[in-house]
Amino acid sequence: MAAYNLAGRRDNKYKARLKITVFEGGLEAFRDAVEAEFARTRAAFSGVDQALLAEIEAAFAPPALPLRDAGAYHAAWAADADFRAFATQNVVAHKVPGYGIVTVSLKAHGATPGDATAAQMRKLADLADAYSAGELRISHEQNVILPHVALADLPALHRALAAAGLGTANAGLISDIIACPGMDYCALATARSIPVAQELATHFKALGLEQEIGQIKIKISGCINACGHHHVGHIGILGLDRAGVENYQITLGGDATERAAIGEKTGPGFAYDEIVPAIERILRAYLALRQAPEETFIETFRRLGAAPFKAALYDEGARDAA
Ligand code: SF4
Repeated sequence: MAAYNLAGRRDNKYKARLKITVFEGGLEAFRDAVEAEFARTRAAFSGVDQALLAEIEAAFAPPALPLRDAGAYHAAWAADADFRAFATQNVVAHKVPGYGIVTVSLKAHGATPGDATAAQMRKLADLADAYSAGELRISHEQNVILPHVALADLPALHRALAAAGLGTANAGLISDIIACPGMDYCALATARSIPVAQELATHFKALGLEQEIGQIKIKISGCINACGHHHVGHIGILGLDRAGVENYQITLGGDATERAAIGEKTGPGFAYDEIVPAIERILRAYLALRQAPEETFIETFRRLGAAPFKAALYDEGARDAA
């Protein structure tokens, strides 16, 4: 940051990005500036401040999570299909036995990704107090995480979330899309993002393919600034302006996990009304190409590369039929 603060284009909001500083000055020059700054600050570094470290540790002390009887959880699992879907899709194991980490999806099908009303936010705060040791976190995936939920409380939490319109069981599925504000709200946008996400979510729900497709990360940005992280989406969608008309470039194979990868551009972009059918062609190719239902989209992509997906994407016969 110190190096960037000296070299960055803070004079121009369109260029005030680290990536632009690196692009304009070159990686070597920026690396040299960082090393010089590091040498300067390192000389003044006198070791970890133990008092400060203790203060930070105390502020982030894990909550007490007593052992609870999970009978209510097992009963709801056996009796309630909606609960089962929610517990399967939106809950992962906590390191403390008998507890789970709950993703509250802000991706109801057809809604604006990441949006919550004031009433829903108040409800979430109350539910965090009641069921998650007073803690909730906002994730970069535009959802809310309740990090310390006893499985015993999960049925009651699910009922409360569902009553508030927050019970969508789609974490990690195709409708759990990251989309930047795009043309609807952002002055820098060159294309719409939110309506693309909404149409993808409702389209695949209507096709009944959401569960079948399984885990997939679709990410959408409305300009090259990439706030929607499209470059690290399994399927990335970048909205551009081509002579005053929205045009969407698709990338495949990006990954934001420990196997980080930048997505590969597929080829020519698509008009707004072509983008949903284009994504459908890619995903129907995936369903045909995967070795087993357990093989996720990104695993199939890593095994086969981009070629078969590009072939499906630019299959003129399929496009005409659509
Ligand atoms: S990526 Fe989206 S939010 Fe970011 S600057 Fe571009 S249009 Fe705006």
